[in-house]
Amino acid sequence: THFGFQNVTEAERREKIYQVFENVAEKYDVMNDSMSLGIHRVWKDILVHKMNPSPGTLLVDVAGGTGDIAFRFLNYVRSVRERQLQQKLRNHQNLSWQEISKSYQEEKSNPLGDSQVVVCDINKEMLKAGMQKAQHLGYSEGLSWVLGNAEELPFDDDKFDVYTIAFGIRNVTRIDLALQEAYRVLKPGGRFLCLEFSHVSNPLLSRLYDLYSFQVIPVLGEVIAGDWKSYQYLVESIRRFPPQEELKAMIEDAGFLKVDYQNLNSGIVAIHSGFKL
Ligand code: SAM
Repeated sequence: THFGFQNVTEAERREKIYQVFENVAEKYDVMNDSMSLGIHRVWKDILVHKMNPSPGTLLVDVAGGTGDIAFRFLNYVRSVRERQLQQKLRNHQNLSWQEISKSYQEEKSNPLGDSQVVVCDINKEMLKAGMQKAQHLGYSEGLSWVLGNAEELPFDDDKFDVYTIAFGIRNVTRIDLALQEAYRVLKPGGRFLCLEFSHVSNPLLSRLYDLYSFQVIPVLGEVIAGDWKSYQYLVESIRRFPPQEELKAMIEDAGFLKVDYQNLNSGIVAIHSGFKL
């Protein structure tokens, strides 16, 4: 490849990837929007809808970067809790005003219903950008940031209800180790969800997509972030990533059951899901 990833050791590859995200951290969100024409937002919304977390869910978002999945998760559980309260009030028209006021107060004092999300990323600069964004957008409750490697997570066994990794797994040096770690930190019954670029089956769309990826994205990278190479790496890493069925088999090898995937936009991205049962 142009980026020269074929002949490097794992440690060198890890170092290069670290540099890529260190370089892009500040411009990461702007670049995401411009490269995907904003569509990455829709893909992330679909991931969180698929997760359908209930209040009380403990989520770890690995390679969580600037917090996009975490913020969506918090919004989602907050709205579920609000809806539950409204339903409760509608279904119990005979509630006394004391009971109604108690329900409201409970909801107000704990709008997330004890849900929590831990954003874990290997890159300090990405986490820093995420924490600044959280502060700016007013997220603090139920949210924490942890520096850590997906291949060696700094968490106990059987801890989380859900594990997500969005546009992260293709950057991990040893995908098999990352999947084993995902399995380890999930509670029995927990769910693994991975949103990642994948392979387009339609030949025409695939050609257009190649053209866009190789001709347009590095140029955008240069113009917006002054960084051609990092964006060339991103494109190449997408092409080298295992296709849908292969990733599914890898997830199964890590021990997950009921593994399947959903293609979005003809396979430009796919969401893989599995359970620790
Ligand atoms: N999940 C975020 C999103 O969807 O916007 C960020 C995705 S970004 C393309 C990839 C992230 O993976 C970067 O923040 C990078 O630092 C992180 N990353 C790469 N290798 C990692 C590893 N071994 N462990 C944890 N995070 C890693």
